Amino acid sequence: MPELRKDYFTNRLVLISPERTKRPSDFVSKEKNSKTLAPRDCPFCPGNELMTPPAELVLVSKENTLLKLADSETERVEGWNVRYFPNKFPAVSPDAEVKYSDPPLVGEPAFGYHHVMIVTPNHDATYFNLPVEQWIDILATVQDRVRWLYSKKTVSYVSVFVNSGKEAGASFSHAHLQTLTLTKLPPLIQEEAETLHQDMVELSQCSMCRVLQLEINGPRKILSTENFVAFAPWASTHAYEFWIFPKRHETSFLKVSQKEINDLATILRATLGALGSSLSNPDFNLAFHISSEKKTTKQIHWHLEVYPQIVKWAGLEKGSSVYINPVPPESAAETLGAAARKELAAIIGIS
Ligand SMILES: [Zn+2]
Ligand SMILES: [Zn+2]
Repeated sequence: MPELRKDYFTNRLVLISPERTKRPSDFVSKEKNSKTLAPRDCPFCPGNELMTPPAELVLVSKENTLLKLADSETERVEGWNVRYFPNKFPAVSPDAEVKYSDPPLVGEPAFGYHHVMIVTPNHDATYFNLPVEQWIDILATVQDRVRWLYSKKTVSYVSVFVNSGKEAGASFSHAHLQTLTLTKLPPLIQEEAETLHQDMVELSQCSMCRVLQLEINGPRKILSTENFVAFAPWASTHAYEFWIFPKRHETSFLKVSQKEINDLATILRATLGALGSSLSNPDFNLAFHISSEKKTTKQIHWHLEVYPQIVKWAGLEKGSSVYINPVPPESAAETLGAAARKELAAIIGIS
């Protein structure tokens, strides 16, 4: 049974998940971004659906309408765009009982739901070249599943993230994302929520909206669309890190409209395309920072963060949470900005 332990002294949380050691992987080659599994052996490819647990949600587009279907125990839906199913090797478990222990050994069974979403049926597609239309389906599915997960009583936070490439922690090369729920706010989200709350009380302004006012026309801006802005954050912990924020103050990811989803798909296509073309498809992680939907918790201005895996975190980073970033965010924004504007022009040109 997985366990959620808190550090003796700090708020750091650790999921002790022995199940994870059994995970298979198709990254056996040392060559970067190599796809070592042929589609016929890839558990994430069409035709191999029985190699995964039954999907709880399958998106199928038929005659211009999008159908939301589900697999049965013995049969799988075919012709899908996106599939969402329970992780075979979960880091949290719905069978865990929630109970608490005493300091300094604070731990509890890691109650929660851990899922995998296959974001494209195409084995060779990458996050750097996924079409805007595919992103729209992915984001709509994420929103649908986040809503479903938050409707569960014991879920305080839904973490949505992408591991793309071996260096970013992925075990399969076929593009996918994951959702994992927690019974409490993760420390980073908690810290953002506390700061935002304090600024709301003292200055009557959202701290993140204030940051956006600064960054939207500053030297770290990468790209701006009707509703979103992408920029390299002032204190980027990763080389070429960038964040995407809704321009309008919005705490709930569940309230994002279809029009905004279309726009978010566009800015993701353009910025990730820029990351791929400028830095030869680096491994990267992407994380949603969203608010808890529980009424009693403090909120954040939701956004996305992208962390390219170009420079490895080493002793200073691991030992002190102080990060060395050799690429000034201003230079990163210049490089990514030029490439992203080209990508955007191409998207608008063809759509
Ligand atoms: Zn595949
Ligand atoms: Zn705000």
